[in-house]
Amino acid sequence: MATNYIQRPIGTEDVTPKTIHKWLTVEKVVKETAECFGFSEIRVPTFETTELFHRSVGETTDVVQKEMYSVTAKETVFTLRPEGTAGTIRAMLQNGMLAEALPQKVFYVLSCFRHERPQKGRLREFHQFGIEMAGSASPYADAEVIMVAKQILDTLGLQNIALHINSIGCPKCRAKYFEALRAFFADSKEKLCDTCRGRLERNPMRILDCKSPICKEIATGAPSILDYLCEECEQHFATFRSALDAMQIAYTIDPTIVRGLDYYTKTVFEFITTDIGAQGAVCAGGRYDGLIEQLGGQAVPALGFGMGLERLILTMESQGCAFLEPSRCELYIAPMDDAARPEAMRLANTLRRSGSRVEFDLANRTFKAQMKYADKLGADYLLVLGSDELATKQAKLKNMKTGAQTPLSLGDDFEDAYNDIVLADMFRDEKLESLLNAQN
Ligand code: ATP
Ligand code: MG
Repeated sequence: MATNYIQRPIGTEDVTPKTIHKWLTVEKVVKETAECFGFSEIRVPTFETTELFHRSVGETTDVVQKEMYSVTAKETVFTLRPEGTAGTIRAMLQNGMLAEALPQKVFYVLSCFRHERPQKGRLREFHQFGIEMAGSASPYADAEVIMVAKQILDTLGLQNIALHINSIGCPKCRAKYFEALRAFFADSKEKLCDTCRGRLERNPMRILDCKSPICKEIATGAPSILDYLCEECEQHFATFRSALDAMQIAYTIDPTIVRGLDYYTKTVFEFITTDIGAQGAVCAGGRYDGLIEQLGGQAVPALGFGMGLERLILTMESQGCAFLEPSRCELYIAPMDDAARPEAMRLANTLRRSGSRVEFDLANRTFKAQMKYADKLGADYLLVLGSDELATKQAKLKNMKTGAQTPLSLGDDFEDAYNDIVLADMFRDEKLESLLNAQN
């Protein structure tokens, strides 16, 4: 349909009041869970100098090679963050956090920007919840990070999300592995996509992460990194797996997971669903022991994950998971005429100050139209104010669900009287509910 107003950019989404409760549900659960595990919130800029992403995410990745939104302003190149880890580690370094007691544990909810082909579950602006832990080399930290993700998925009521794990070793194991990969791809070099041909020399492991069907086909049967792990990495992977076993967390070892970003070492993992189509990774992360040093800090081992909130919500919708109730009007006050409007406003404000969601007519609707509007708002209660009510300072509070009308004083005791009625109703609803539950 032709419209004459400006449209939002392709690959971005609006969240309107109709769907905000889904976001609030997910944001509440991710934050509360992260806090239970001892993570604190961190907020970092939406854009950083481009160099930060080149030095962390890596020159040979899809993100840096194809997907970044960069702009030159006053001779400096900046990039809208394509992920949260680089900026977070930069902030930890810049704020001296890594000189404090370790491990440092932070979480964030932020928007990311990548110039990709928009599809279901793949946007140009998307949102990530992420955690980062800096200062633990223990494989139990790897398991702990996975437990944060697992507890979030469980609390949201999600099912059938498979955990895939792998180890991609350290630079020591990779030297030999890269040789094996180069030998494997040598014969099919000409058939690889342009990007992958360039990667063959610099980082052949990236080829395993290419989305092109031809490269995927060529890569089947490629040597597995797991056959090239050094003793330390091998041991780390084994202890990590036994920690998962101890927590009865099911997983699949999947040597094809190499992750899209260069900074990973040792453990990498993804939580994958098949319920939302091709973009099935709802959470992905791993260990990045070299990143902090690469960004100019000390050698501090670290790890974390990013969880795509759009994909999480899509999966919840497709599985029929429950969201928090949308916030709705508690009391609607209907003045019958202009004379009642100041009183409607005064009463509304009295209750708002103690936290109730109260609305009254601001559109000069007729009485009948106001009734309809209160219904549409889904108001729990209705208070009609006419000349009688004003004169006697007595009104009736109508419970919109039961139709019951309870006398309500509009005098000095208005707030207490109103709260008494609401509490009594709540108490009765709860009693009814527990009676019904007992019967079932
Ligand atoms: P994919 O393989 O799907 O492109 P990725 O490896 O590029 O994912 P990460 O950089 O690990 O993704 O980001 C972590 C998480 O963020 C992903 O698992 C996914 O849930 C989400 N995510 C990544 N890119 C997008 C996007 N363009 N739109 C929506 N969510 C995304
Ligand atoms: Mg990607």
